Amino acid sequence: MQIRNYGKTGKKASLFGMGCMRMPVVLPPPGSPPPAPGAGGPPPMPPVDKEKAFEMIRYAADHGVTYFDTAFGYHGGESEAILGEALAEGGRRERVMIATKQPFREMKDKTTIRKNLENTLKKLRTDYLDVYLIHGIGQDEWPGIKERKIPEEFEQFKKEGLIRGVAFSFHGPLDTFKDVLGYYDWDMCQVQQNFLDVDREVTEEGIRLAGQKGCALVIMEGLRGGALARAPKPVQALYDAFPVKRSPVEWGFRHLVNYPEVSVILSGVSTLDQLKEDIELFSKEDFTPGCLKDDEKALIREAKKVYDGLTKVPCTGCEYCLPCPSNVAIPRIFAGYNDGYRFDNYQQSRMFYGFMKMQKADASQCVECNQCLEKCPQHINIPEMLKEAAVALAG
Ligand code: SF4
Ligand code: SF4
Repeated sequence: MQIRNYGKTGKKASLFGMGCMRMPVVLPPPGSPPPAPGAGGPPPMPPVDKEKAFEMIRYAADHGVTYFDTAFGYHGGESEAILGEALAEGGRRERVMIATKQPFREMKDKTTIRKNLENTLKKLRTDYLDVYLIHGIGQDEWPGIKERKIPEEFEQFKKEGLIRGVAFSFHGPLDTFKDVLGYYDWDMCQVQQNFLDVDREVTEEGIRLAGQKGCALVIMEGLRGGALARAPKPVQALYDAFPVKRSPVEWGFRHLVNYPEVSVILSGVSTLDQLKEDIELFSKEDFTPGCLKDDEKALIREAKKVYDGLTKVPCTGCEYCLPCPSNVAIPRIFAGYNDGYRFDNYQQSRMFYGFMKMQKADASQCVECNQCLEKCPQHINIPEMLKEAAVALAG
């Protein structure tokens, strides 16, 4: 496993970090009625398959992975508890770093912020967090976070030994990122990057700035929610014509590995096979900064151009637009639309859309209240794109 410096903290972390937001779940038996919609949102996620999740987390911790990322809300609050239980056994907790997050919307006052942290520590079965993040800072949240001096609040937790690093995760434009980065001496920042997003979100400039500051840089959505893991035909044709043969997953990750500023690349694996594949990849000798030659960089730029032409909706599935007051399953609808378009086959997407209709979570429920617009870090005109998706998915 490749190891990198964790910014200027003096710590080191495995370059591959296990994201605990897409763990295996228990699916209902075939033929079961669809779950009822949740209050103000789409149906709740199925429960995590604990045994499979334990197996994966322990496999990772026993095969060189020293970085685990979770959050207050992942898997409806189950993720922290499952990670804690899995690591508690066999002295694994002591060998790894745990990063978790508290969202600004849960920070009602100082007492609540502390209680949330205490609850998280309890769920993770640990006395300290290696890194504690303010979850999902964006353009809209940042003024409030600054005004209420939340980073300073986290600093107090650091002084008390409850956390060892103060950090943030970010979705938003470069200007806001620069302001956040310059405001405080953060130990780490977690940002969205992948080869489709080089000129969006924090961009390559943001990556360089974090590096110059000595702030550890953790990458999320490195494969754009899994979209880069399967190359559509025109992209695969480019890869096939290239003299060096690599999987789409490897090309996607290599683009990120190439940056010397990157400390950890997160991958939200859902199966043990995916995890094993990632561990093998991130253990390659040449998975090091500068691993891409000029012609390989050109290939990735070419692949980006093709992808840009094939994606109908630039949705990453982050779910920041949820809950929708009309129960529209926004990211699931866009995922189905994109998949159908990319793979030129809408059969499966239309089947899933049929389930959404039964759950009254389909695009026709949208009343165009526009509440979701300002929440979308990808700046998607959600009501308009829902109409377009509905036409394609209706078949
Ligand atoms: S505009 Fe439509 S999808 Fe967006 S929050 Fe309102 S009802 Fe939901
Ligand atoms: S529509 Fe925007 S906010 Fe909603 S899941 Fe997609 S990218 Fe995220």
